[in-house]
Amino acid sequence: MVKKKILITGCAGFIGYNLCKKILEEEENDIIGLDNFYTGSEANVKLLSKYKNFKFILHDIISPVEIKADEIYHLASPASPVFYQKNPIRTLKTNFMGTMNILGMAKRFKSKVLLSSTSEIYGDPLVHPQKENYWGNVNPIGIRACYDEGKRIAETLMFEYHRNHNVQIKLCRIFNTYGPSMMKDDGRVVSNFINQSLENKNLTVFGDGNQTRSFCYVSDMVDGLMKMMNSSDDFTGPVNLGTDDERSVKDIAQLIITLTNSNSKIIYKRLPSDDPCRRKPDLSLAKKKLKFSAKIKLEDGLEKTITYFRSVK
Ligand code: NAD
Ligand code: UDP
Repeated sequence: MVKKKILITGCAGFIGYNLCKKILEEEENDIIGLDNFYTGSEANVKLLSKYKNFKFILHDIISPVEIKADEIYHLASPASPVFYQKNPIRTLKTNFMGTMNILGMAKRFKSKVLLSSTSEIYGDPLVHPQKENYWGNVNPIGIRACYDEGKRIAETLMFEYHRNHNVQIKLCRIFNTYGPSMMKDDGRVVSNFINQSLENKNLTVFGDGNQTRSFCYVSDMVDGLMKMMNSSDDFTGPVNLGTDDERSVKDIAQLIITLTNSNSKIIYKRLPSDDPCRRKPDLSLAKKKLKFSAKIKLEDGLEKTITYFRSVK
C-alpha cells in the first residue's frame, strides 16, 4: 500500500494528540503534526515524537503555511469556552483566516480536508435532538459567538472551496468529547468535575445544573473522525459525531462524585450567558454513512478518565 502523508493541525491538543497516536500505532502513514501550543501541550508532542513516522511543525495557522499532504485533519482551534473566550479575536482569526489558509493550501496540493466543526454551530438549539439539516440558533454578538460564528464561517469556507475549487471536504460536527489527555485546567466540565472531586473540592455546577450535554469518549470520537476521512468521496457531510446519551450537568457532577468516592459537595454558580440548555445529536446519518456508533459507555469512559487524572496528579 502507498504511504500517505497526513497533516494534523492542533496535534498538541486533546483530540489531536489522541488521533495522532491512534494513526501512528495502527498505520504506516507519515504524520505531520502542526500546533502553536495555544491550548495544546509540548508534552503531548514529546510523546508523539517517539514515533519514527511523526514530524512536528511549530506554526500558527493564522499565517499561511505550505505543507504538501494527501489528507488534512484540521483540528486547530481552542475548544474550551474558557480558552476561546480568553482572546475572542484570536479565536475568530484562527477559525476564519486559519481555515482559509488550510483550504488554500489544500487547493494547491489537492489535499483532502476534514474539519472538526462543532455542535456549537446549533447554538442554543430550538430543535431536539439536533439533525444536520437544522440551521441553529446562535447569538451572533454574544460571548460564545467568537467560537460559534468562527466555526460557522469555517463550515462556509469548506463548502465554497469545495464548490468553487473542487477541494475534497469532510465536515464533522463534534459533540462534547472527554477522556485521557484533556488538560487538567482546560475549564471544561468533565476535567473540572473530576479534578475537583479528586482534590475533595466543591464541584462548581453552573446555573441549576439542569442543562444537558451528551458526552462521547475520545477513542470513539477518533474512530468517527477516521471513518469520515475514509468515507466515500461523494460524502462531504456535515455529519454529527458523538453519543446520544444525554445527561444533565447536575447528574454528571453526582456521578463523578460517586465514581471517585469523593467527599466533595456540589455548589451552584452563575450560568454564563448563552450556555445552551439542551444538546443531543441525531446520529442517524453517521450510523448510515459511516457505520459509526460509540462503544464506550459514559460510566466506563469516566472511570478511564479518572484513572488518567489520578496518574498525572
Ligand atoms: P484543544 O484546545 O485541546 O486542542 C486544540 C489545539 O489547537 C491545541 O493544541 C492548540 O494549541 C491548537 N491551536 C489553537 N489555535 C491554533 C492556531 N492558531 N494555530 C495552530 N494551532 C492552534 O481542543 P480539542 O478538544 O482537542 O478540540 C480539537 C478540535 O475539535 C477543535 O477544532 C474543536 O473546535 C473541535 N471540537 C472539540 C470538541 C470537544 O468536546 N473536545 C467539541 C466540538 C468540537
Ligand atoms: N459547566 C459547569 N461547571 C464547570 C464547567 C462547565 O456546570 O465547572 C457546565 C457549562 O455551563 C455547560 C456544561 O457544563 O452547561 C458543559 O460545559 P463545557 O465548558 O464542558 O462545554 P460546552 O458548554 O461547550 O458544551
